Amino acid sequence: MSVPSRMFVPGPVDVDPQVLQAQTQAMLPHRSKEFEAIFQSASEKARQLFYTESRVFLFTASGTGLHEAAVRNLAKESVLSCVNGAFAQRWYDVALANGKRVDMLETAWDQPITPQAVSEALQRKPYEIITVVHNETSTGLQNPVQEIAAAVRATSPNTLICVDAVSSLGGAKIEMDAWGIDFLLTSSQKCLALPPGLALCGVSDRAMANAESVPGRGWYFDLLRMEKHRLKDSTPATPALSLIYALDVQLDRILAEGLEARFARYSAMAERVHAWAAGRGLGLFAPEGYRSQTVTTLLSTPQLNAPAANKFLLPRGMRIAGGYGAIKEKTFRIAHMGEIAMPDIERLLSALDEYLEAQA
Ligand code: PLP
Repeated sequence: MSVPSRMFVPGPVDVDPQVLQAQTQAMLPHRSKEFEAIFQSASEKARQLFYTESRVFLFTASGTGLHEAAVRNLAKESVLSCVNGAFAQRWYDVALANGKRVDMLETAWDQPITPQAVSEALQRKPYEIITVVHNETSTGLQNPVQEIAAAVRATSPNTLICVDAVSSLGGAKIEMDAWGIDFLLTSSQKCLALPPGLALCGVSDRAMANAESVPGRGWYFDLLRMEKHRLKDSTPATPALSLIYALDVQLDRILAEGLEARFARYSAMAERVHAWAAGRGLGLFAPEGYRSQTVTTLLSTPQLNAPAANKFLLPRGMRIAGGYGAIKEKTFRIAHMGEIAMPDIERLLSALDEYLEAQA
């Protein structure tokens, strides 16, 4: 039996053949009973994944579209944007580009956003919303979102908490309702192991109520319009039907694995990669206690960096990722998300050892 090729990159990730196959189902009118049943089934399962009783919207977009949706729907003007990585910086830029008054709460990229810093910022000035990235795909750093959300609630109860979980939802436990998150967004092409093109967001009731008073929400990403259609198991505009077929099948697979089992699989793979790196004297970019369980960012060396290693890995059906953003040249990344399992990680690490030995 041939070994499948594996991409250890943080999206788009490998998609299971059964899920790819689901996309080949015939098109249905999106205002038909048959499609509405699939939409309802996928939406209900998505709520389990988001740990929410409220609602999960399915947008035909990538995750960045929902950066825009958050700021346009939930902030009349004032946004506090936490930035310690490339994707957090993007959310800040998106808020600015949408004409919001945005303040940046910045830390070094190898340091987490702390609940204390957030509390202090909110004591200095009120904000309608705060944006924070749970899992920074550039740095492999996981921000303590549960504690940050608690700090926001304690300091400024009316500030809406918006979280980007593009590279962690479905791979790490994020309990939207229990943690008090108001807007939680993700994309299809990472831990959900779907093709790119769908963006999902859970939105709290109080965020929906708030949106009613926000002017200039636009049309395509207007949450109130989305809600009206969601209640009829559809979307205002034509959705990516094939991706929703695939989502419905993939959520069955994810729930059959079990969410806790899935999170444990990711966490074990992360630990294995961290231990391997320590054994080879390789540095990790994120500090201990804040390391991502879906992607590990390592410091490049002259021997081990993505372009050089991939020359060795690609003929063996594997690929790792280069660095991203300001740390592109300094780092490389090994993603352990989606369909990747421990035997795949072992195969990758053995190949990297073989590669390193050949360099010595
Ligand atoms: N946020 C994070 C943490 C990401 O990793 C990415 C993409 O890699 C994005 C946002 C942007 O998502 P998309 O490419 O789906 O627009």
